[in-house]
Amino acid sequence: MADGVQKSDEQWRAELSPEQYRVLRQAGTEPAFTGKYFDCHDDGSYRCAGCGTLLFGSETKFDSGTGWPSFTEPAAAQAVELRTDRSHGMVRTEVTCRSCGGHLGHVFEDGPGPGGLRYCINSAALDLVPEPDAPAGAGSAEQ
Ligand code: FE
Repeated sequence: MADGVQKSDEQWRAELSPEQYRVLRQAGTEPAFTGKYFDCHDDGSYRCAGCGTLLFGSETKFDSGTGWPSFTEPAAAQAVELRTDRSHGMVRTEVTCRSCGGHLGHVFEDGPGPGGLRYCINSAALDLVPEPDAPAGAGSAEQ
């Protein structure tokens, strides 16, 4: 369970947009190709839209063709928590934010990286924060 941010349902409803609430707090899924980040190639840190925890770096984002932001790995293993999800007649692995317990998306084993994983994440669960001085990522300046 979430071991960081603890808020009441009323608080979450007040702080999040309806779509953020539906995804993060009700495990909803945004329609494919509708989110603000599926086709985003900007550099930066993808943080949890619920609590601000750093979840994914733009250097691990790739074009999956699915219509959802897709990443090969989280920014830190401990940033996310994986749970078995047996809803909708499928067995999937749900990805949640470890800090606030918010639903992020699912992870699948057909990713392109060495780990073979594809983190399929809802745009509504993310906030992209530009971090031009971040040391990680392709193309960062040598200093
Ligand atoms: Fe969070």
